[in-house]
Amino acid sequence: MVWSVTRRCNLHCGHCYADSHDREYPGELSTGEGERLLADLASFGVPTVLFSGGEPLLRPDVLELAARAGELGMRTVLSTNGTRIDAAKAGELGRAGFSYVGVSLDGLDSTNDKLRGSRGAFEAALGGIRAARDAGLPRAARPRGARRALRALRVPRGLWRQSRPRLRDQWRPPRRGSELSV
Ligand code: SF4
Repeated sequence: MVWSVTRRCNLHCGHCYADSHDREYPGELSTGEGERLLADLASFGVPTVLFSGGEPLLRPDVLELAARAGELGMRTVLSTNGTRIDAAKAGELGRAGFSYVGVSLDGLDSTNDKLRGSRGAFEAALGGIRAARDAGLPRAARPRGARRALRALRVPRGLWRQSRPRLRDQWRPPRRGSELSV
């Protein structure tokens, strides 16, 4: 189950599936509502919750929600642009129980920064990957561009000592829960 815990994001990707900006969005679930959602997911037998966004680490209670999901018996995974992960945050992610951190990249250096609309985003994302590595968190780069562009993406091998990168195209149509039928 992918849960976009917030629409807010600090980057400015032209291809953003959520048209995210760095501002608050009305109508997002409160902490209590999020906990009730997680309880429902657990009762449905959902094995894994992928915390996504926007940038999920901009949601102040994301660690609390992840820990709650773990208490309910679900595996927790983080999908992030990586720019907000330093050593302290990586430690917090581990203590919250995240079993995997996926960092989105669109290419090397200026290619990534141009597509992400933010100078320095590539180095910040690599810093996040390194911090996750140093904290012992399984992690992977998740290139989000076209397959031809992905071939140009060569992340330093040393970053993948504990887990290999998974290179695959991704496309997720943005949908609100109220638009889904069951
Ligand atoms: S990092 Fe993700 S959520 Fe943020 S602007 Fe880029 S595509 Fe959108």
